[in-house]
Amino acid sequence: MDNTEKTYKVLARKYRPSTLEELVGQDVLVQTITNAIKTNRLAHAYIFTGIRGVGKTSTARIFAKSLNCVGADGKATGPQIKPCGVCEHCRAIAEDRDIDVIEMDAASRTGVDDIREIIDGVQYKPSSARYKVYIIDEVHMLSKSAFNALLKTLEEPPEYTKFIFATTEIRKVPATVLSRCQRFDLPRVEMDVLCKHFKHVCELENVKIDDESIQIIAKTADGSVRDGMSFLDQVISNCDGDITAEKVSKILGLASKNVIFELFEDIMTGQIQKAIDLIDVQYKLGVDPVLVLTDLLEMTHYITRVKIAPQSVGLLPLIPEEQDKVRQFAGKFSVAVLARVWQMLLKGFDELKKVPNVLSAVEMILIRLSYIGMMPSPVEILEKIENQNSAEVQKKNS
Ligand SMILES: [Zn+2]
Repeated sequence: MDNTEKTYKVLARKYRPSTLEELVGQDVLVQTITNAIKTNRLAHAYIFTGIRGVGKTSTARIFAKSLNCVGADGKATGPQIKPCGVCEHCRAIAEDRDIDVIEMDAASRTGVDDIREIIDGVQYKPSSARYKVYIIDEVHMLSKSAFNALLKTLEEPPEYTKFIFATTEIRKVPATVLSRCQRFDLPRVEMDVLCKHFKHVCELENVKIDDESIQIIAKTADGSVRDGMSFLDQVISNCDGDITAEKVSKILGLASKNVIFELFEDIMTGQIQKAIDLIDVQYKLGVDPVLVLTDLLEMTHYITRVKIAPQSVGLLPLIPEEQDKVRQFAGKFSVAVLARVWQMLLKGFDELKKVPNVLSAVEMILIRLSYIGMMPSPVEILEKIENQNSAEVQKKNS
């Protein structure tokens, strides 16, 4: 195993939360679960939903500890808001060897037989813990018959069982199952919360990193703590103690903001050769052309938004110089043109799924886009026609 891989694994797991307090950016969830334990109003089944890496399975495991923790002295009689982390159950759950906490990944075990195994076990009391806890990850992957089998148990669960489901696709979970669960929607973790968390981790790891680099990582993580931590891992192991925003962008396959602005300007002013050269250079540097399109799409959104509501520029996650640029573009292009750019970029993403060579597809999209920028708006066309007509009239009359 090389060093990169080793660091990668260590960081991603090292900061996995072990208490509700350590969960990043899920305050509502933490508060609700805390209250439920405090007032002893526990449901039989819970379902956590949200994008990957926001803390669904981490919460499920912490919750399982809370339910079964007997305290450091082994005398606690009910669920604990703060699992002690040292009692036999806390330790067994943390080490993934508690026989009363059954974890199953529905992504790999979708069939009715797999669920049957679980259901057959439900009739037996927990061997030593307070509750028998079933954690089913990616529960939406279960087959229809598996869901039906599960439903019967959910209708009349024994007192000592708790079900905790996690899913990234709640719409695929049957309503009959959903109606028997208490549902929690884990939101994407906010950008500033992510920044703060990654900064804190860097401090603990003795890693020197500037705010711009942290921001790039947090933005690319797009609300997912785990994705962000993996990016941070990659950055730390590839930068060798000298982290710069430029390097971070490169490692994550991103073009810098300046490049995106330049590209946008080239396209919108019809300088297609310059645009193609620019994307080729970026591609050689290791930038992912698809991410360039994503950035262009985002930029188009920013510019349109500022065009409609100029004061909103301050809300964009951009530094002042970048905000100035967005303001300039907003002054230059009409909403109609910007809307067309947006639509063409979106259509471009569909095309990308069908082509073997992504770079050439992105180039074709840029070429098409460059004509939009040069194309006159309907108003301009009308004006031109009117001018021509009046010129002809004048010619005749003279
Ligand atoms: Zn404990």
